Amino acid sequence: MKRKYLLYAICVLAGISACSASKKGQGESISDLWKRYDVGIVIFEDKAPQTKGSDIYHRIIPDAESYIKEQARAVLATLYSSPEDSIPPVSKIHYTLEDIDGISAKGGDHGDITIFYSTRHIETSFANNDTIKLFFETRGVLLHELTHAYQLEPQGIGSYGTNRVFWAFIEGMADAVRIANGGFGPDARPKGGNYMDGYRTAGYFFVWLCDNKDPEFLRKFNRSTLEVVPWSFDGAIKHILGDQYNIDELWREYQIAVGDIQV
Ligand SMILES: [Zn+2]
Repeated sequence: MKRKYLLYAICVLAGISACSASKKGQGESISDLWKRYDVGIVIFEDKAPQTKGSDIYHRIIPDAESYIKEQARAVLATLYSSPEDSIPPVSKIHYTLEDIDGISAKGGDHGDITIFYSTRHIETSFANNDTIKLFFETRGVLLHELTHAYQLEPQGIGSYGTNRVFWAFIEGMADAVRIANGGFGPDARPKGGNYMDGYRTAGYFFVWLCDNKDPEFLRKFNRSTLEVVPWSFDGAIKHILGDQYNIDELWREYQIAVGDIQV
């Protein structure tokens, strides 16, 4: 009952995007579709059991392993149409609570993934004893990091550390998945900027494209990394929406639509 209330509060708070799997009136069938998908072994390890943050975490998430698996399936349903798609296999997710600075980050590769979540960040997020706010933040951060485990990566343009386009796409998609699943509050969208800024600035734009240009946009955008090589934002846009579209013109259209540019 308590959990149901929490989830309800989260949906109301966040205003789940039409782009998310759950708002297509097929919530049941989508969860059925992914129910048996092997998301990998999830190993939860509390490396900071003496901290206040750890205590709070266990209170809001009593069964971390099944909670992480549930969110992994939400990520998969956002990025892919079905378990038969080309999904990078994940064999193991080692999720740790750690008493360190920062928020959360994904490490590892080839399906052997590590994700840490900072107990210091948990304590900061729980500053006003607001359980719903902390649960909301924890889920949002987890959706972002899990996207890194399952998303496809651009090819032919270098790597996350060497190419800004690669980086902006990877981080933009992780926040787009978080946004599409109602993982940010109503005022989280940054004003202005450019999609090359990655993270939320790019993420809200990608979700806008999904809501306004093609309801399958996020899945097609993820998949475009297999089909557009070398990958580019404009190449992917033309591949998905047609040659008449241009990434910078779409960005301007989006900025006008959301009221960041007055014309
Ligand atoms: Zn990230």
